[in-house]
Amino acid sequence: MIYAGNFKSNHTRKSTEYYLKALAQKLGAKQAEDKVYIFPPLTAIDHYEGDFTLGVQNAYPTHHGAFTGEIGLEQLDEFDIKTILLGHSERREHLGESQADISKKFAFFQDQDFEIVYCIGEPLAIREKGFEAVMQYLLAQFEGIDIGYENLIVAYEPIWAIGTGRSATVEEISSTHRALKKVLKHTPLLYGGSAKPSNIKEIKNIAGVDGVLVGSASLETESFLEMILS
Ligand code: PEP
Repeated sequence: MIYAGNFKSNHTRKSTEYYLKALAQKLGAKQAEDKVYIFPPLTAIDHYEGDFTLGVQNAYPTHHGAFTGEIGLEQLDEFDIKTILLGHSERREHLGESQADISKKFAFFQDQDFEIVYCIGEPLAIREKGFEAVMQYLLAQFEGIDIGYENLIVAYEPIWAIGTGRSATVEEISSTHRALKKVLKHTPLLYGGSAKPSNIKEIKNIAGVDGVLVGSASLETESFLEMILS
């Protein structure tokens, strides 16, 4: 299983350091084959010790240059960061990233051999239109994306389940993952959207779920650990 924690704009450098120290101490108890990823805010990236991979939530597709407010490869290389989250619905919705912007980032970081956690997900209005509309919407989010890339992890995150406390049902996750797996074949497929200690076992048992991308419930070491060790 893969457990990825996305801090978004939460935690400081100091609290991330504290969090990761506490996490690292307890990760010896996880299954050896399980993988843990943490995506802290950019101000907290650093070299940390522990059985987890540190990634970034965003970066600009450039080595360096005149891109005010952005960071590029040079800044990531300083901390040996080789993992990036792309396509998150919050960046698509609130930061205005288009599919073309995202695919440009994808191609750049693929070229740099980054491990890419690529997020897709539909809004509620599409889910309410039925399964066919959902799949059409999700598959359009693969436009310009090399889904055969060997360092790719896909996260299916229904937007209406993110940060709302309302996870998708077992049937919704199961049918969507089954359909996505037909396209993705061997690419690991995570579920994201209000995954938490109380529903993690149920989610993990769904065929086609290779792990979880977790927002709110990853913010406290105890609750994220509870999920990892469940
Ligand atoms: C996310 O934003 O990737 C996410 C899954 O958030 P939450 O777990 O809070 O729903």
